[in-house]
Amino acid sequence: MSEFDLIRKYFTRPARHTKLSVGDDAALISVSKNMELAISADMLVAGVHFFADCDAYQLGWKSLAVNVSDMAAMGANPKWTTLSIALPEANDSWLAEFSGGFFACADAFNVDLIGGDTTRGPLAISVQIMGEVPDGKAIKRSGAMPGDEIWVSGTLGDAAMALAVMQKRFDLSADEFCKITSALHMPQPRVALGLALHGLATSAIDISDGLLADLGHILEMSEVGATIFLKQLPISDTVCGRFQLEQVKKMVLAGGDDYELCFTAPAEKHAEITALSKMLNLALSTIGKITKNTDLVIHGANDEILDFKDTGFDHFNESL
Ligand code: ADP
Ligand code: MG
Repeated sequence: MSEFDLIRKYFTRPARHTKLSVGDDAALISVSKNMELAISADMLVAGVHFFADCDAYQLGWKSLAVNVSDMAAMGANPKWTTLSIALPEANDSWLAEFSGGFFACADAFNVDLIGGDTTRGPLAISVQIMGEVPDGKAIKRSGAMPGDEIWVSGTLGDAAMALAVMQKRFDLSADEFCKITSALHMPQPRVALGLALHGLATSAIDISDGLLADLGHILEMSEVGATIFLKQLPISDTVCGRFQLEQVKKMVLAGGDDYELCFTAPAEKHAEITALSKMLNLALSTIGKITKNTDLVIHGANDEILDFKDTGFDHFNESL
């Protein structure tokens, strides 16, 4: 199979909102009036971000989903993506699965795959995403204000626990593992939430590297601090049953790959955000408040102040 046959067969689908899609030297898009283009990219490398022998459909989904999640975190509507992929070999069944998962995510979020690059090499996937956000309305990391409440969508720690089980660092029954594994393999980007947060949130980030690390980015860019309460962190039943373990607390506070949104909003927006949670059928929990000093203070189960050094997953300092 030639490179061009491969692209035609697996990576070419009719575009929905693109002037010129896959097949020419460049794609052409037009950005809607009064909209800005939001652009982001994420790279996934075998052995670093995923196991080389992992399920190809889920890998395809996740490659795009982690990028869509960045659009959600900006309050942007994802529209276009490019896929650059290095493949050790042209394996038909792997490509069919991978592109199936990628396009399932593209369909779920109405994203057009408009181009990319395909080359032979150690398995690596680089995805770029582009979306639209109303002029001047993107939700940045830098807008958190003292007194704002800190919110988190969904639950935290499931993905980190699933990874720990796969790496045999943690034990769960097959049933329980089953309940949390989709958090790791098929993250659900919170696009509808991001779009609904215009006019409500002062800042937002998606949790890819762990709550503490990602909230830390908001604090740094906003030049503020935070007080958060362990008791208020949203966790699944599986995680809750083991939350007294130090290792599990770390998964919730510093485990990566959750792809939930962490955002801040003035306290007077509390009721509106609670109503939004009902409307979207998505749990939204307040976990603490933004403070004027620049410290991040964590209150433990008995309101004692925790000393927590591992601030998240960092590629050069893997500590979980
Ligand atoms: P060029 O040599 O001009 O860079 P390529 O031969 O690399 O063009 O690609 C041909 C077309 O296929 C281009 O439109 C490119 O964007 C698209 N393309 C290549 N690889 C992929 C891929 N993995 N997914 C989607 N489109 C791709
Ligand atoms: Mg090329």
